[in-house]
Amino acid sequence: MHHPAPVLLSLVVPVFNEQASIQPFLDRTLPALQAAAALLGPDARSEILFVDDGSTDATMTVLLGWQAQRRDIRIVSLSRNFGKDAALAAGLRNALGRAIILIDIDLQDPPEIIPDMVEKWLAGAMVVNGVRADRDSDTMLKRFTASLFYRIYNQMAERHIPLDVGDFRLLDRKVVDIFNALPERSRFTKGLLPWIGFHPEEVRFSREKRAAGETKWRYWRLWNFALDGLTSSTTAPLRIWAYIGFAVAAFAILYGLFLVGLTLVSGTKAPGYPSLMTAMLLLNGLILMSLGILGEYIGRIAVEVRGRPLFVVRDIIEPAPKPTEQTEQWTAPPMPEWPQTRAATGGLPAAAKSSRPF
Ligand code: UDP
Ligand code: MG
Repeated sequence: MHHPAPVLLSLVVPVFNEQASIQPFLDRTLPALQAAAALLGPDARSEILFVDDGSTDATMTVLLGWQAQRRDIRIVSLSRNFGKDAALAAGLRNALGRAIILIDIDLQDPPEIIPDMVEKWLAGAMVVNGVRADRDSDTMLKRFTASLFYRIYNQMAERHIPLDVGDFRLLDRKVVDIFNALPERSRFTKGLLPWIGFHPEEVRFSREKRAAGETKWRYWRLWNFALDGLTSSTTAPLRIWAYIGFAVAAFAILYGLFLVGLTLVSGTKAPGYPSLMTAMLLLNGLILMSLGILGEYIGRIAVEVRGRPLFVVRDIIEPAPKPTEQTEQWTAPPMPEWPQTRAATGGLPAAAKSSRPF
């Protein structure tokens, strides 16, 4: 009985409404995978594991069409949109490779450096980070807010996030197993991986513009992402209020003594309304702010205690099995309609036009 060689290299690709990005992605990624396979040896198998993060466009149709043509494409389909970090977690849980590369589908992470990552892995690296040499393709505002966030995060958190590292990276199976075994639920992948450690190596690249489709991040989401990142890795925002509270109390005591002294010396002139009012407002403001911060943490504790799974898998779709000698009469399953219509519809199946998912 012939056993297929184990999968050596997995690409994990989260996709959310990316029907137009799949074709350009594969056009550039398949040659890169081939180059990587040359490094890995003749028997090496690789896979591309797409995680469909609840797309509502024709993403699934397009993926299934590709899968019908290739044996190395696997699809994990989530039951709804869970966000990129959860999609990555689903991909890491289901990837089979000894080395696993996380990559965006929009070609902002150039697949051409995959062989470089693989080379470092073969040389013994457990983690290879893709490092952006520049962020020229991002808007000024995004660059500014991103750098502000990482600066604040790195000030507060124990483990620093290396600047200009996105999610594009190679992870050894050992690191992925540890990642999968972490019990926490608010997954801030970028913060968790430095925590795991293993002396990451780097491959530099320059970030390009999104090849097709549009970014799925809105500022409100990024803000929530930043909050998640800070509260899931550090308790500094919680603790700082103890110090501020102490300072305010000390000041209030001194001020009180000063007022008593003043009254003793020159008697009372005003009913004390202004000082009372300012103190009240100041303290109430501080109390509200600290309550808000406590709320952030308590909310997350609630999420952890609920213990919901990170994601819900609707389906894992494996490629058709390889025909063996015994099944000479094996005939290819009927191709779905769409490849024929692809040229006519500009790379998209006719079904892409309908609003049904697939
Ligand atoms: N993505 C996802 N789920 C989401 C949002 C994004 O799986 O809820 C995927 C998306 O399809 C892409 C990657 O995450 O492959 C990066 O998304 P995007 O390019 O929109 O982010 P940006 O590059 O603007 O930070
Ligand atoms: Mg992008």
